[in-house]
This record gives sequence, structure tokens and C-alpha cells, in this order.
Amino acid sequence: MSFSSLGLSDALLKAVSKQGYETPSPIQQKAIPVILEGKDVLASAQTGTGKTAGFTLPILQRLSMGQRLRHRPIRALILTPTRELAAQVYDNVKAYSIFLDIKSTVIFGGVNQNPQVAAIRQGIDVLVATPGRLLDLHNQRELSLSNVEVLVLDEADRMLDMGFLRDIKKIMALLPSKRQNLLFSATFSKDIKALANDILHHPVQVEATPENTTVEAISQKVYRVDKARKTGLLIKLINDGQWEQVLVFTRTKHGANNLTKKLIGNNISALAIHGNKTQAARTKALDSFKKGTIRVLVATDIAARGLDIPLLPHVVNFEIPNISEDYVHRIGRTGRAGASGEAVSLVSADETAFLRDIEKLVGLRIPAAVVEGFEPDPDASTDPVKPQQNRQRQQKQHRQPTDSNNENSKEGNPKRRRNRNRYRRG
Ligand code: ADP
Ligand code: MG
Repeated sequence: MSFSSLGLSDALLKAVSKQGYETPSPIQQKAIPVILEGKDVLASAQTGTGKTAGFTLPILQRLSMGQRLRHRPIRALILTPTRELAAQVYDNVKAYSIFLDIKSTVIFGGVNQNPQVAAIRQGIDVLVATPGRLLDLHNQRELSLSNVEVLVLDEADRMLDMGFLRDIKKIMALLPSKRQNLLFSATFSKDIKALANDILHHPVQVEATPENTTVEAISQKVYRVDKARKTGLLIKLINDGQWEQVLVFTRTKHGANNLTKKLIGNNISALAIHGNKTQAARTKALDSFKKGTIRVLVATDIAARGLDIPLLPHVVNFEIPNISEDYVHRIGRTGRAGASGEAVSLVSADETAFLRDIEKLVGLRIPAAVVEGFEPDPDASTDPVKPQQNRQRQQKQHRQPTDSNNENSKEGNPKRRRNRNRYRRG
């Protein structure tokens, strides 16, 4: 199977090969032809399986073949839940449209709107947006959605988790009723199906079987270690393994900041990324990490879904998440598009129960080891870490969903806990 057999134009084939893609991924093979036909699509495939190109390539093809109006009204609207995802999808749109006469831009909250407004005024074919900023600019009459031909909801499950349902409905009401609708999601929950029923017309459902995808391609390891010695162990692992690009997850923003300081103090370049950082700081951290100017990116769960860090070799759970699904999302940052990766979890005695939950969810026993010199205290208490207190704090945050600061919100959402089995493999 090749990209050319999918019916894509030469300009798109050239762009795809410039990206180094040789063969379309399973979800791309299935989604591209039906989107080219103009059908509504409900697509699900795991993180890192190339969903973005799966919808962007056929959209670009349809737009470039269609009629162009002089003032370039917005003809394709791609909604994503977070700023980072919006920026990434936009990067992809730019890369795939490089040989086409298609203009695109991205808008999201947390930054000055003026440059965004200026870009839209020049005429834009494809707009990538987060729901909040889109509605904002629409209310200010800075943009019109009355010429939208294609709507994409990317990471639709995450949008629902983040409480964007009302915003999505408001946006739907601003679009022409005759349009193509594409809903992409990593998972197929009941809520997603309900949303799909609302929005899609006779959708074609495409699902990529998780063959050769993330979890299989990732080698998972647990190191049992005392809480107080985790930093020391992480430094040893990074130094001994000569790890050059490591994504480290912590449970809290405070923990992320602390760990970042300690790594820097030990001559390991690091930056933190979480919801309390300004947009500029987050973008800079992610860019430096991608470019390799820093070795370690310390992140809270806001980075766990969707952030596209190609071929990331190492992911470390400095603390394992107390919601098991987040483990799957975190380690989905490695082994992308079939490349191999390593996910290491540092587990202290008080995290034992969380580890059991994760093993139940992923349906396998993660091999555990002890590093010489870092043997855990056999008498350490296995009582879980203040889960009660955490949950209350997280629920409080969940009540104010916005474009930003949402890293803990999903943990406060009881629905997610009920849906946990959707990741289980047969
Ligand atoms: P998803 O949205 O499913 O999580 P992305 O669209 O972010 O996945 O793609 C994950 C990574 O795979 C990106 O780095 C992207 O450039 C790369 N990729 C996408 N399609 C292909 C392909 N056909 N061949 C190789 N790499 C690809
Ligand atoms: Mg995606």
C-alpha cells in the first residue's frame, strides 16, 4: 500500500515524502479514501498512529480541487482541545500544504489575539482552533464560519473530558448545515458515540486495529525505589544510559518544578511544562526539547496526550499516575508510529496499589527490578499517598474548564474512571 494508491494529488505526495513517510498507517489507509469521497467519518485509533495526516491530507486535496473564492473564507475548521495540540496540528497542515495554494493559521487562548486576527483578515482556507478562542473571536465578529465545508473534531474524547461539549454545540450552530464532519478520537466511549450521533450524518466508522501500535512497541519497566531516592535514581539512569531525550512525568506542577531544579543542579539540562507556565514558556520548553537543546522535559499530564514528539526514546514516570488511563497516555509518548521506546516507572511503596491498578488495566505484569544502591526499604508503608486530599483538589479544578490549566481536570471526572476498561486489549 502506498500513498499514491490512495488517490492523493502529486503536490500532496511530494509533501508526504518530504516528511519522510513511506507508507500510510492503517488509520490513514482506511480514512483517506472515504474522506476524499466527502463522507462523514467517525475514526478511532491509538495515539501516535498518524490521525492528523489521516484527516488533513484528504481535506487539503478536496479544498485544492474545489472552487476558490477571492477573499478566502474559512473552508475547513479543525478543533482541538489544547493549545499545544492546535499548534501541532497547524504545523502538520503547513507541512502537508507546502506545495499547494492553501492558506492556514491557528488560534488559541492565552496569547494576544491581535496577530491571530490579522492572519484571519488576510484570508484563510484552513483554521485550526481551540473552542474558547474561536467563540471569542466569533463573538467579536472577527471571523465568519458561514463558508465552512469541512469540520474536524480532533481528540474528541479529550474535548469531552475537558468539558468542551457546550462550546462544541455552540460552534455547530454557527456552521452551515451542509458540510462534511470528521470526528477523530483515541477511544470510543459512550459519550463519543452520543456526540457522533449528534454531529455526523451517516458516518463511515473507521477503526485501526492496534496492530504494531504503541503499547506493543514499548518496553515497560518498573524500578522499585524509596520516594526520597527517586531523584538520585533518575539522575543515575539518565547518566548511565546516556539518555539524551527524556520525557519525565510528575503528578503535580510543584513536583515538576522541584525536579527540574534538581536535575539542572546535577548538570542535566531540563525544563518543566505544565499549566501554570505561560504559553510562551510552554512553547519554548517543547521547542527546546524537540530541538535537543535540553535533555529532559518534565511534564504533568497536560503533556500526556497528543503532544507530538517524534521518536521519543525514553519516558519516565517519576510518580505513577493514580488514574490508570493516564499511564497509557503517558507511555504513548514513546514508540510512536511503530518506533521502539522505553517506558520506565519509579515506584515507591506507597504507589503499590496504583501500580496494581495499572497492571490490571493494561492486562500485563510490568517487569519490576531494583537498581543496585537504590534498594527500597522493605519496611516502607504501602499506604497510598493522600488520595482523598488529591481528589478534592482535582475536582475543584475540574469545575473551571478552560483552554488552559486542565492537566488535572480529567482526574476529577468520574466518567473516566468508569470507562477505564476501554483500553483493555482482547
Ligand atoms: P495521532 O494524532 O494519531 O496521535 P499524529 O498524527 O500526531 O498521531 O502522528 C504521530 C507521528 O507519526 C507524527 O510524528 C507524524 O509525523 C508521524 N506520521 C504520521 N503518518 C506517518 C506515516 N505514514 N509514516 C511515518 N510517520 C508518520
Ligand atoms: Mg492526534
